[in-house]
Amino acid sequence: MNAPAPTPQDVSDEVVRYDVRDGVATVTMNRPRYHNAQNSKMTYALDAAFRRAVDDDTVKLIVLAGAGKNFSAGHDIGTPERDAHLSFARAHLWYDHVGKPGGELQYAREQEVYLGMCRRWRDIPKPTIARVQGACIAGGLMLAWVCDLIVASEDAYFIDPTLKMGIPGVEYFAHAYELNPRIAKEFLFLGEPMTAQRALQLGMVNRVVPRAQLTAEVDAMAARIAQQPRLALALAKQSINHVEDLQGKRAAMDAAFGWHHFAHAHNQLTTGHNLGGVDAKAMAASNKKNLQ
Ligand code: ZN
Repeated sequence: MNAPAPTPQDVSDEVVRYDVRDGVATVTMNRPRYHNAQNSKMTYALDAAFRRAVDDDTVKLIVLAGAGKNFSAGHDIGTPERDAHLSFARAHLWYDHVGKPGGELQYAREQEVYLGMCRRWRDIPKPTIARVQGACIAGGLMLAWVCDLIVASEDAYFIDPTLKMGIPGVEYFAHAYELNPRIAKEFLFLGEPMTAQRALQLGMVNRVVPRAQLTAEVDAMAARIAQQPRLALALAKQSINHVEDLQGKRAAMDAAFGWHHFAHAHNQLTTGHNLGGVDAKAMAASNKKNLQ
């Protein structure tokens, strides 16, 4: 018997894999060689996969996963397929960043692919679960945080090391909502890894299980949630997200995004580099012990 022809989403060299089983869509970041560093190709592929899951009435819930040893090393700041200089068909009404002068280029790009997309994914009208193993670094945090639930393996750790680049935290600035403000300051000031166990104690993740049981645990949780009525799930999610918005999450994030871009511009003025001269190599060296 011939196997069915693979769809583009099934092809293993695609940056995002998409799979639906028993009402659960699993969206898998698929650049394991680069610890699932997110280039624009990946963020747009994630957006398309989420759209596909929202449009499919048989899908009740979405699991976001990362292929390989690590969930995500964050934004792509130096793999051979880094594509921040390229134009893509945009998801929002921000204009194309390519060719814009000064701080405009990065501001327009990050409004679209970082802040805009993360907010959009956080408000997906179906429940989402992040399945996190290994490293969850900087931009990786943004993807875990936009999900409704986070289930981590014992080996998972979370880190926002952007202060090393002169940047006051990642673009989707949910730190003080995900963590108690004092812990959020510690997390940013030290830029050190937070273990899954500590993240559990602090309420940043829902469950921690041994690595070998991670997929089974998420599948079981997803299967139970998938039994619930679709609209009630959407309304419950909106109700909780609305509470956060009433608490000022959206406004807080807008201000932090402005400060984030002031830092990018300051770096550019003082060092000629928007990340303060810290490149992928330097960050990788700094994170190396964690990515083994
Ligand atoms: Zn940025």
